[in-house]
Amino acid sequence: MKKYVFVTGGVCSSLGKGLAAASIGTLLECHGLRVCMVKIDPYLNVDAGTMSPFQHGEVYVTDDGAETDLDLGNYYRFTSSPVSQKQSITTGQIYQEVIRKEREGQYLGRTVQVIPHITDEIKRRIVTAGNDNDAEVTIVEIGGTVGDIESVPYLEAVRQFGHDVGRENVVYVHLTLVPMVAGEEFKTKPTQHSAKELREIGIQPDVLLCRSSKPLNEEMKRKISLFTNVRKESVISAYDIDGTIYEIPLVYGSQGFDEIVLKKLELDYSEVDKSKWENVVEIYKNPKDTIKIGMVGKYIDLNDSYKSINEALQHGGIANNVRVKIIRIDSEELNKLDDPGKVLEELDGMLIPGGFGKRGIEGMITAAAWARKNNLPTLGICLGMQIMTIEYARNAAGLKEANSTEFYPECEAPVISLLEEQQEIKDYGGTMRLGLSESHLKEGSLIRECYGTPLIHERHRHRYEVSVKYREILEEAGLIVGATTPGNQLVESVQWPDHPWSTGVQFHPEFTSKPTAPHPLFAGFIKGALENKN
Ligand code: GLN
Repeated sequence: MKKYVFVTGGVCSSLGKGLAAASIGTLLECHGLRVCMVKIDPYLNVDAGTMSPFQHGEVYVTDDGAETDLDLGNYYRFTSSPVSQKQSITTGQIYQEVIRKEREGQYLGRTVQVIPHITDEIKRRIVTAGNDNDAEVTIVEIGGTVGDIESVPYLEAVRQFGHDVGRENVVYVHLTLVPMVAGEEFKTKPTQHSAKELREIGIQPDVLLCRSSKPLNEEMKRKISLFTNVRKESVISAYDIDGTIYEIPLVYGSQGFDEIVLKKLELDYSEVDKSKWENVVEIYKNPKDTIKIGMVGKYIDLNDSYKSINEALQHGGIANNVRVKIIRIDSEELNKLDDPGKVLEELDGMLIPGGFGKRGIEGMITAAAWARKNNLPTLGICLGMQIMTIEYARNAAGLKEANSTEFYPECEAPVISLLEEQQEIKDYGGTMRLGLSESHLKEGSLIRECYGTPLIHERHRHRYEVSVKYREILEEAGLIVGATTPGNQLVESVQWPDHPWSTGVQFHPEFTSKPTAPHPLFAGFIKGALENKN
């Protein structure tokens, strides 16, 4: 029998439900179980592709090119669950499907309603996601907060789910907040109310994960248990940790969380191996050194817009036994300085991340120029690679007017442009290149050295490309093309000549890095930065 864990949230948003769900996945995998993670977003957008990273954090791209919520990135980093379009359900998708069926007459003239048609479609998607991946346990995170209008159909669907498949096959986990008020006193009332609200819908939570600034004591747990009908040992203190997020599964585990869930699901809990995760936490807590990586970009005030890059940098640190300190540098501010070196010279390495639109571009080019001339290890991702190319064209290949048609459509030397603007290749069209595709790595390049293999597959999300017309001029001027698409068609990676460590990539390696399996490019970059420091 397939098993299901539903994760709901109460009291308020932003309590870290995604991390909680991912941590549950981690723990179950430590018991040798195959898990499948599913995220439900109760908004009406069909996907996250068109949503502003300001508002919503990073858009996480999957192998199959789905533009999803950043929580899928957490799932990928914490578990071996597949992440694809099927793992990301939005209200927009559910309604689109139900309305399509209605238009096709599939409901045979019946009145189409939220219950049962919308709820059935929700349940169908949850079952499909788990079945397609042959998962033993499907873990479903329901976005939003209990009490939100948008969440109602989902909570009803998961209530029915427990009824349909049997309560021994379902665990309801509810994440709440236990705030602390003046006088260092914990308040359990919001948690009591939130559990009550769930019970009114017909869901009795099996486990409470209580977020709080400090660990809850036995007395608090007893009180919460009494008022919520949840057994005391199933009240888990999800207190703030000042270390790494990868410690969260261990914090839950130390309170017997995995045993509770597995017993409830009538699964064996005797065999467990958490050493992989203990190892990650150990390296994070006791690094042999700390290095400073500057991240030059816009949106920098909002940490979550570069979530996967931040994590991948930490993984690169784990691979090298060092702690990575990320220093955010606003490229617009940098460009106002007379000498960017004042900010950049304290760094051990610099990363230029992906992005869209014109804002902050010139500052990134200034930073790239400084890094190239001053031998600062540099990793450019997507837009970052394009910036490295424009800088080289301007300052080393004599193309003073070099630019991307994304920022300056009429520019004289469009070294970065849309394929349709480049004429040589006509049939690619101007649409976004999304998802996994193949790149060939050149012998002798730094990127090839990092991966240690000539053929790779990485995820893409971009429209613009290094111009086929200008590639020859750039290569003649010394720019190293380290990787291309099959048939040597499009540039996938560039490297500056006579520079200790530089690589720009057109794809997004950050999406596929894990703490337990750091991505080779990030591991290589941090190694390069460490060598630069010493
Ligand atoms: N804006 C650039 C493009 O569309 C880069 C995109 C990105 O960094 N993801 O090609």
